[in-house]
Amino acid sequence: MWDDLRGHQRTLELFRQAFRRERSAHAYLLIGPEGIGKRTFAFKLSQCLFCERTGSHELDACGECHACKQMQAGTHPDLLSIARPDGKRELPIELIVGSSDRRGREGLCHELAMRPMSADRRIAIIDDAQTMNAASANALLKTLEEPPPGSILFLLTPSVDAILPTIRSRCQPVTFTPLPDEDLAELITSQGLSTDAEEVQQITTLAGGSLVTAQQLLHPVLRELRERLFRALGERELDPFATTSQVLTTLDALGGDPATQRRHAGWIVRFCVEFFRNELRSSQLSDPEDPLAEAPELDRLAAQMERCIDAELQLQQSMPLPLCLEGLFDELSRLRRGRVPA
Ligand SMILES: [Zn+2]
Repeated sequence: MWDDLRGHQRTLELFRQAFRRERSAHAYLLIGPEGIGKRTFAFKLSQCLFCERTGSHELDACGECHACKQMQAGTHPDLLSIARPDGKRELPIELIVGSSDRRGREGLCHELAMRPMSADRRIAIIDDAQTMNAASANALLKTLEEPPPGSILFLLTPSVDAILPTIRSRCQPVTFTPLPDEDLAELITSQGLSTDAEEVQQITTLAGGSLVTAQQLLHPVLRELRERLFRALGERELDPFATTSQVLTTLDALGGDPATQRRHAGWIVRFCVEFFRNELRSSQLSDPEDPLAEAPELDRLAAQMERCIDAELQLQQSMPLPLCLEGLFDELSRLRRGRVPA
């Protein structure tokens, strides 16, 4: 069952200990970057708890019983799973407590309180929990305070800060760390995402321990965008308007709704940071005897990286894309010419 688990063995061991001692919690907050296996982990754990041939304390599954087959097919009636729909900024409250005219009579909280259909408990997985607004979080609070007997909730979030303290205090936090490079490289290969060893290594270095990120990076258009940016940043003069327009054209080619486009735009910033980090590394290597000889150049690189981080914040705060990118490239171009903006 857990043979193909990558990178989270210690976490599994902690869960095993808790279930063996019957000390499991009713609600867990699974914290960690997107694409490192939190969702897979929660599903596997649920399958173990539903499996008809293994006891809950074992946290294992046979893979063959009716419940296991239903889990594999995604049709187990006692597993309730919600996530932020594509293109939406928030997890709709309707998914948690039902639409306004049927509030409390449908939705995840209502279903969780119903008798299990085939297992001895119901399990809920709330993905993108950080996108619940205050009303949704408050609606969920009641269930967290008085969870139906036997039920377990898994709330998934990239960051604990984005979760309201009232929710946080009622969940047991479990931190997931990014996948180690070798595990990620193995996953990229075993899932057939790439077989080119050099490419696998390059993507692994960039992906920050996230399989989803690696998948995105393997998209040919995104790779082209990275190469284009690297070329532009490598030029003596950076033309802010031409670079912005090239980047926006590439983002259009990638398609997707505004939220997806914004996520793709985040890549631009990260590619820029990667470029400057490489520059920093090579400038430090150029004169290892006297690391201070190039101090002004190092300052300039640091200032450019800081500007990239500002741009990432602006993107998160919903600044219009063209405005954000033009501002970024304009200032990068000025910083490169040695003029620090006021
Ligand atoms: Zn089974």
